[in-house]
Parts: sequence; structure tokens; C-alpha cells
Amino acid sequence: MGKSMIKKVLVANRGEIAVRVMRSCREIGIITVAVFSDADRQAMHVRYADEAYCIGPAPSRDSYLNIEAIIGAAKKSGADAIHPGYGFLSENAGFSERCKAEGIKFIGPDAYAIRTMGDKITARQTMIASGVPVVPGTKEKLSDEIKAVEVVKEIGLPVMIKASAGGGGKGMRLVKTMDELIPSLRMAKSEAMNAFGDDAVYIEKYIESPHHIEFQILADQHGNVVHLFERECSIQRRHQKVIEETPSPLMNPALRMEMGEKAVAAAKAVNYEGAGTIEFIVNDKLEYYFLEMNTRLQVEHPVTERVVGVDLVKEQINIANGLPLSFKQEDLQQHGHAIQCRIYAEDPDNNFMPNPGIIKHITVPLGLGVRYDGYVYEGYEIPMHYDPMICKLITWGETRKESIARMRRALYEYKITGVKTSIKFLERIMDAPDFIEGKYNTHFIEDNHARLFTTKPCGIECEDMAIITAFIDYLDKLAEIQPQKYTEELGNNWKDFGRKRNVLRL
Ligand code: ADP
Repeated sequence: MGKSMIKKVLVANRGEIAVRVMRSCREIGIITVAVFSDADRQAMHVRYADEAYCIGPAPSRDSYLNIEAIIGAAKKSGADAIHPGYGFLSENAGFSERCKAEGIKFIGPDAYAIRTMGDKITARQTMIASGVPVVPGTKEKLSDEIKAVEVVKEIGLPVMIKASAGGGGKGMRLVKTMDELIPSLRMAKSEAMNAFGDDAVYIEKYIESPHHIEFQILADQHGNVVHLFERECSIQRRHQKVIEETPSPLMNPALRMEMGEKAVAAAKAVNYEGAGTIEFIVNDKLEYYFLEMNTRLQVEHPVTERVVGVDLVKEQINIANGLPLSFKQEDLQQHGHAIQCRIYAEDPDNNFMPNPGIIKHITVPLGLGVRYDGYVYEGYEIPMHYDPMICKLITWGETRKESIARMRRALYEYKITGVKTSIKFLERIMDAPDFIEGKYNTHFIEDNHARLFTTKPCGIECEDMAIITAFIDYLDKLAEIQPQKYTEELGNNWKDFGRKRNVLRL
């Protein structure tokens, strides 16, 4: 690290996270630079920043994933650091390396940490070597099908087949019977190849009634690592988080301390620098296993900020400046309870179909204990090219009960017209007895289906079943003969049919 402090930060991202990062920069007197695609000329982050540069056409690969264009904008603007936000290039080791080569500080870990943790098999091996428990399963890339059968016989069904390069809930397959194993394995490999350009897969035991609990960590350049306690992220759909809260209703002080120590050990194992998250899967017996590490700031970071009383972006910048952490583990405490709801422009009653469009009217919730991290405004057109998340709503209370009551009140106040949103769906979750009692695992949405959706399973009427079934048959054939097209179909408007398939065959 050079001696001079960061004065100008380019935020290589868009949407709410770009605005959120710039807010902290503004507070500490750092000049902000936005980058934007052609589809984002009217975007909030462009208006908010001190300077803004166009980096290409709408598709992400031509703009927000375009390393050359982003480095070019950084040089033109004279930015001395780049904050990658989450998603896009935030976990791209090559980008971190390139920034370093160009003399621009990447606000995040070095390429080594990103690479080690980005490859799930290598991450598992590194954790085993550091005494962090991992889900029972293969320690190496699956070499052949005979080996797969051996492994499954050893660890027992059900199992998950996972892509080593996987992420965002993609590249995972649940195998319940021995007959499914080989076909699923072949499918998983071809999907992984298409989605990630790498067909390495491994097998791990499927954890029944799983809870997703993760620990926030901060690590400076001097070897100091602390954890900022847990986040409970078990309310998921399609392995993607919908609601996050801290403290976790499942947690107890002894387990918290133990898992926190493992999280710190995990970060130390890769000489980590910056903010990161260690994800664990926990069963009903409170046995916990390392799932993966996210080497960046996460969508759900605000609940931790509120309960622990830190600004994680400010800490990231201090760390990037080479400053030692200003607190020790024993200085940190959790105060009260926070919940975050992710609000999307989508239709929950029609299979969460994305619903981009023009925001006609918006009234944002305010008042005691409410934080709103958003980026849309009246008259703004949500582009169809990116993630349809509109905002994150975070509430805080002295108790879990109070923060739920505030969330219910804030969701009531939130009015948005012009696009369909998931607000009603979130309200139904806030009213669900299992949620209120804190008794839930990752199957919550499936288990509470009747309560959470106004339509039949997955938003289809019985009369439509014939059409759906025909489409599923088409998808099955496609998967065999044209895996590339199959993945595209799943990734496009039809991705929900993958889930319908499971529902229909129950
Ligand atoms: P990704 O990197 O794609 O997000 P993760 O490994 O973090 O994948 O897993 C995402 C989610 O999938 C978890 O939060 C959990 O709900 C589910 N999951 C992953 N592994 C298992 C497992 N072994 N058993 C049960 N559920 C799992």
C-alpha cells in the first residue's frame, strides 16, 4: 500500500449498492465516480456521483463486466481506488489483479483470496486444513462416475451435486435416489460447463432442515481479523435470500462464539483483507458446516451495520488505506435486532416473473428504526437488463418482535405503482406464525405455500397443466440434445419452469 490516502473512488456497479457505497464516500470526503451503461443514463447512481463515465452498451458483459472500459474510466477520472460493490466484477480475481497492476487500489481482497474461495473445491480443502468443519462429501473434483457411486454409498443419500465454480444458487442438484445419481451428475457437469466454463463438480451430503447462517468478518492488512456476528438468511427461494435478520433466532451465545472463531480462522487461512462473509449451513442439532466464503460486501450487510453499529463501507476504505482496525473483537456487541427485506419488481403470484417498467408513483417508508437503501424514483424506468431488485428495506428494534412490527409498518407505508412488486408477499411472511416465532429453515417458503401465495402452486391454474407438462417435456429433450440452449431457456423467462417441474412431479 502506498502512503497516500484514497481521495477518489470509482464505483464499478449500479443500482442501490452503487448509491450506498457513494453515500459513505461522501460522508468521509471522498470524491465519487460512477460508471454506467447506455441503459443507465437516467440512473440514480449517475446523478449521485461527482463524475460519471459511460462504459458501454446495456448488456452487462459489454459494460459492468467490461474490465477494459472500467479501467479506462478510472484512468480518465484519476480515481485512485475502485469499489466493486457486489455481483458483477466483485469476485473476479483477474479484475483485482488488473487494478493492482494499474496502480489502482481494489477495495477488497487480493486475487489469491478471491481465487481460493471462488473455487468451492479449493475452498473446502483450505477449510479442512484450517480446522473449519465442511459438509461431508468429496474432497476433490469428482474424477469419474464409479467414484461418485462410492462416495454416495459412503455418505448416504440424499446428496447435493455442486459445481465448483457455482454461485448465486446456480449449479446445484439434489439427488434423492441412487438411480438419479448418474443422470444428475451428467446434467450437472454439462450445466456447469455452460454456465461457468468449468465442469468440475463435487458431491456433499444434503443437510436436512437446513439453516443458512453466515458471519460477517473484517480483516485489515496487519493480520487483525474480527467477526461482526451472524446473519440468519434461511428465508430463501430457489436458494436465493429473500429476508435476512440478525441476531439469528436459532443462535445461542456459546455457538455464536464458536462459529465466530471458525469464521475468523477461515479468513485467516487465505490472508484475507477487507470485508467478507463466511457462510455456514446448520442443521436442527446445531451442527454447522462451512458452505462458502463471499469475498465482498453482501446485499444483506445493512442488518449487521445497524445491530453492531459500524459502517462496513467506511471500514473497507480504512482497510484499503492500510489503517489497522479501530476495534478489537471484545469491543464489538450486538444491540437490538434488525431485519432486511429485499424488494423486487416482480410478480410473486405469477412465479416471481420480473416486471420491469416505469415507476409511476413511489412513497418511501420513513420514521424511527427504518433504513431504506434504494435507487428508483418517480418516472424512472427500470431497465430489463439487470437484477430486478428495487430496494432493500431494513428495520431495527430493541427486540425481534419490535423490528418485525416496524417492518410490517414500513411495508404498509411503502407505496409503489407502475410495476408489480414483492411487497405483499413480504407482508404475508411478516404475518406467518412460523416466521413470527422464529421457527423456520430454508424450506420456509415451500412449507408455507398456501399462506404466502394467492394463486395455485407457482401461479399456474390446473387447466394450464397440459401446456406446462408439454413445455417440461420439451425442456427435458433440450437438456439432452442441446444443453447450451436448455440453460439459456432456463436462464430466460422460462427459468421458473425448472421449479415447476419439481412441483408437478411431487
Ligand atoms: P451459491 O454459491 O450458489 O449461493 P451455496 O453453497 O452458498 O451456493 O448454497 C446456497 C443455498 O443452497 C444454501 O443457503 C442452502 O439453502 C442450500 N444448500 C447448499 N448446500 C446445501 C446442502 N449440502 N444441504 C442442504 N442445502 C444446501
